[in-house]
Amino acid sequence: MPELPEVETLRRGVEIHITGRQLHKVELRRKDLRWPIPVTRVRKLASRRCRLIERRAKYLLLHFDGVIPEVAMIHLGMSGRLFIDLTPRGETSPDWIEHEHWRMHFEGRLMRFIDARRFGMLDVTRESKLQVHPRLSELGPEPLGSDFDADYLFRVSRRRKISIKTLIMNAKLVVGVGNIYASEACFRAGLRPRRAAGSMNRKHCVALVDSIREVLSEAIESGGTTIRDYHGVSQEAGYFARKLRVYGREGEACGSCASRIRRVVEAGRSSFYCPSCQG
Ligand SMILES: [Zn+2]
Repeated sequence: MPELPEVETLRRGVEIHITGRQLHKVELRRKDLRWPIPVTRVRKLASRRCRLIERRAKYLLLHFDGVIPEVAMIHLGMSGRLFIDLTPRGETSPDWIEHEHWRMHFEGRLMRFIDARRFGMLDVTRESKLQVHPRLSELGPEPLGSDFDADYLFRVSRRRKISIKTLIMNAKLVVGVGNIYASEACFRAGLRPRRAAGSMNRKHCVALVDSIREVLSEAIESGGTTIRDYHGVSQEAGYFARKLRVYGREGEACGSCASRIRRVVEAGRSSFYCPSCQG
């Protein structure tokens, strides 16, 4: 499943190809993915120029200019992929491939959405109403943004008996910290994932915020370094796996102290930690 670093890597790739280009035509082969697609509104984006490509949590936001600026919201869901083909003038459109659900023809570029499990999303909203869109309105701050800092984490963790890991994976408190990144961040902060969130002092919160930012930034950078190996842009870019220090390493020696890495299961999800380095 694509996580925040993969989506940010994708955003950077899409930005290079699509920003500033005019959308000529939209083709849709179905009226829904996870939710209904507003087909008429999506088609009406044609002739507008894509001005800006942002990411909020795991949503890709394509801002289109116009008297009333509009935003196309794209989510990859569990298995969605976005490809961009170069389309030189006069070249015919390639055949549709299996599970390809929609296409956006920009000047010189073709953006294609492929999603076997159809948990993805395509929606359109007015730019002025983006913040109140039901999919975005309840999201917490971005982990790499300035709103997410130690003071904030300290405040939202007070008197919380839930585990640190459950807390940082709650998108209402902070977005984009998936299971793998949560384990890695706890390791770097020296905190056990199952420790009660409310037991953290300010120093712990500083360490955890720094670790979350560090892990996600490194993962984005890994994605960024492999993207050129791909034809087009897809969420497969991103090979942070080799750099994981605890996740998936049960029984292996900790890289810092040589103790055996342990695995615990909480709410059906595995957490990995070093019993010596993390308290
Ligand atoms: Zn250790």
